This record gives sequence, structure tokens and C-alpha cells, in this order.
Amino acid sequence: MRTQLYIDGKWVDGNATMPVYDPSDGSVIAEVATAGEVEVEAALEAAHRAFPAWAKTAPRVRSEMLRKAFEIMTAESDQIATLISRENGKVFADAKGEVAYAAEFFRWFAEEAVRTPGDFRKSPSGDKRILVTHQPIGVSLLITPWNYPAGMATRKIGPALAAGCTVILKPAGETPLTALAIVDILERAGVPKGVVNVILPKPVGTIISKMLHDPRVKNLSFTGSTEVGRVLLHEAADQVIRCSMELGGNAPVLVFDDADVTKAVEGIMVAKMRNGGAACTAANRIYVQRPIAEKLTAELTKAMEALHMGAPLEAGMNLGASVSIKERDKIAGLVDMAVSQGGLVRTGGKVPAGAGAFYPATVLTVASDNEILKNEVFGPVAPIVIFDTDEEGIALANNTDFGLISYVFSGELGRSIRIAEAMESGMVAINRGVISDPAAPFGGMKQSGLGREGGFDGIHEFLETKYIGVEI
Ligand code: ADP
Repeated sequence: MRTQLYIDGKWVDGNATMPVYDPSDGSVIAEVATAGEVEVEAALEAAHRAFPAWAKTAPRVRSEMLRKAFEIMTAESDQIATLISRENGKVFADAKGEVAYAAEFFRWFAEEAVRTPGDFRKSPSGDKRILVTHQPIGVSLLITPWNYPAGMATRKIGPALAAGCTVILKPAGETPLTALAIVDILERAGVPKGVVNVILPKPVGTIISKMLHDPRVKNLSFTGSTEVGRVLLHEAADQVIRCSMELGGNAPVLVFDDADVTKAVEGIMVAKMRNGGAACTAANRIYVQRPIAEKLTAELTKAMEALHMGAPLEAGMNLGASVSIKERDKIAGLVDMAVSQGGLVRTGGKVPAGAGAFYPATVLTVASDNEILKNEVFGPVAPIVIFDTDEEGIALANNTDFGLISYVFSGELGRSIRIAEAMESGMVAINRGVISDPAAPFGGMKQSGLGREGGFDGIHEFLETKYIGVEI
């Protein structure tokens, strides 16, 4: 297990250490190195120094390193999944799913590295030639959250390296071990020194702010809360640093009266319960049309009651622990608030006795103005609201500052697409509980973010477009 920082191709001690906990029992898994000013400066200098040669490295060479990283990560998926389960608390099956998703970003961007098309045209007036090319933007700061410690790291490192950028990764303090394991894989895949660096700065706010005021940093890719994202956008403004922001979500599910209820429940179970509900894409507000509301609520309650909650690495568990007691208590607080505002608990809703950051699968029925619907719950809680007309359902779903993803369940494709077009979100899932795919553009509208990761767009978060006008 790697516990040191990785700077300029070397594993180094930092200025101190901090503990990483197993949230299912509160035990300390490891002490990891933290970075002070000296380590941060070394990482900045290394990434800055390595950039020109990496940018000039043939795309095929960069591509093959990423492909190799995909292969190593796939071969070692059990070990990485175990590490994820231990530091994050999610069950092993979810962790294995995450490793497959995460490795796929290396494969997808290995393929994209050799396919960045340019453009060569005659100008409309015929006076010149328009030549458009793309160049790597430069040193990129990547900041990732704890909910997908592998997936969020590879979703940024993959396109950055494919584009020819060098990076400094700052993983979440709760889950740094997975990030260090991924960087160990990149080292073994042959990525040259200085191209990838990992730091864990303490205190995070002041050090990241200083980095965003350093002229060597050209790009920021952040995944985390809207609250922190907004602070970083302000910080990045002084140097006009390019920003890609994947922020919070408050995903609605709309189940229409012509939906197959059993299929909709299967979809909601995935959309709600993958990762124990700790996903920015997690179904957070379930709107059901009145004629099928009671049937859906009963079936969803039954499905939630059938889940087994327990230690993430124990066989047969479907729901692990939240990442920390603090996060678990946030979930419990939101449910208590919902109940105090008239919400009815159909199942769950109580913190279990014993150690560990556990919270049970919970179904609530609430009125459309219950404040739980305004909060990203980040846990296994499904609040259900009844609606009547399609217009009312659409308005309720869009009544949020967030706009990451929406889920639509209907038996008619035309109706589903009409609803999808009306959703104020960057992504819409139709009759499915999960649509995240490294080959598709992931990202949000409104306060859910800026930019897209994955798909054909992802690499462009790390490329500058350059237009060269040629006299003929
Ligand atoms: P979450 O709710 O998922 O924990 P956060 O936005 O708090 O989301 O954290 C996402 C990432 O941002 C983590 O790596 C965290 O350490 C980092 N972070 C938190 N506060 C700041 C800050 N002021 N400046 C830079 N990074 C921060």
C-alpha cells in the first residue's frame, strides 16, 4: 500500500502524516503523508518542467502508456476494489464496478489520444486559409472527491495525459490510498517523471488558493460540492485559469403512469442505491404520477427492505457504510427534518446501534415542498412525491438550482423524449438507472457545473484551440 506523496517520479515523505479511517468500524487503515509548501512547490516545478517534453511526446506513445495502465488496473482490480471498500465504505461489488469504470477512462482516452482532429478550410471570402489545431493547455490541477476515489481520478488523468498535459492530483483526504495506488499503476505503465504528481496539502484551502495564483498552473479540473466549486471559481478568476467543474446534483426521477412499474423500481434501485446513494448522479427526488404511486411506493419499499447492510467486504452485502460519521449524521439530520415537516417513513429512517457510519435504506413519502427535496442527500434515502399532470411533473423536476441528471420512466418513447428535452439537466436517463459511460459526455447545467468529462468532449477540457490564418 502506497502512503507517500508522488512528486517528480519519486515517492516522498511529506511534512507530516494524517490517518485514513475505515468508516465501517472507525479503525485507522494507514497514515499518509501530507504536503506543506515545500512539497507543493516541488510538485509545481516538476509538472512545469516535464510539460514541454510530454506535450511533444508522440500521441501514440502517450496512448500506449494509458492502454498499459488500463491493462494493469484491470488485472489488479480486486486489490484496488478492496482498497476502495476499506477507505470509502462502499460494498465490494460497488467497488469492483467502480474499478471497471475507472480503468475504462484509461482505455477510452488511450484511443482518443491519437484522434484529435483539426480543420483546414478556405475562408468564406476566399482571402485566406483557416487552419485550426489543438494544443495541450499545460499544468493541470485535478481535485477529486471521496465518493469515487478511482473513477474521478482516472476521468481527469486519462484525458489530461492523452492531451499532453502534466498534472498535480489532489485527492480527497478521506480516500487518498486509491489515488496513490492509481499513480503507482501509471508509474509502472511508464509515465515519465513529473507528468503525474500527487499531493495532499494541509491546510487545503490556503495551499490550493496559492496554487491557483501561481502562473505555472493553467487549468483546474474539480469534482466536488457546488459550495467549494464556487470558491475555486473565484480563486481561479484572478489568473483567468480555465476551469472544468463537476459539482453537486439533485437528480429527479419522473415515473409516468404508462411506465412498467417493476422495471422502474429496478431502475430506481440502481439510480438510488449504487454507491449507497453517495453519487452526484444519485436519484434524490422521486416523482410518481398518481395512478401508479401506491404500487411503486410499495414495490420500492419492498426492494429497499430486501437489501443487506453491513461491513463492505463481507459477502452478500448490498449497502456498506457512509464515508464518515459526519456524513452519516448529515443524512440522518435531513431525514429527521423531512419527518418534522410531515414526511412519512415507509422503511428505514433510524440510525442503527453500534460503531460504524451506517445508515439504512430509507423510503419516505413527502409533500412537494418538503425541504429534503432541496438538499443533495448523498445517502440511501428515497423521498417520493406524487404528481398529476406531465407539466406539473416537469416543473417539479426542474425546480432546483442543480442540473446534472434526470431519470425518466415511461412506456412511450415519444413522450420520454419530449420530457427529456424539457429537463434542465446535462444528462437524461430514459428507462435506465445508470448511464455514466466513459464514451459519453458527463456534466451538468445550472449550478451542477461547467464543461464535460468523457466522450469526445473530455479531452478538450485539456486542449486549447488554436486558429492559424494563412495568406494565400
Ligand atoms: P464533498 O462534499 O464530496 O466532500 P468537497 O467539495 O468538500 O466535496 O470536496 C471535494 C474536494 O475538494 C476534496 O478533495 C476536498 O479536499 C477539496 N476541497 C475542500 N475544500 C477545498 C478548498 N477550500 N480548496 C480546495 N479544495 C478543497
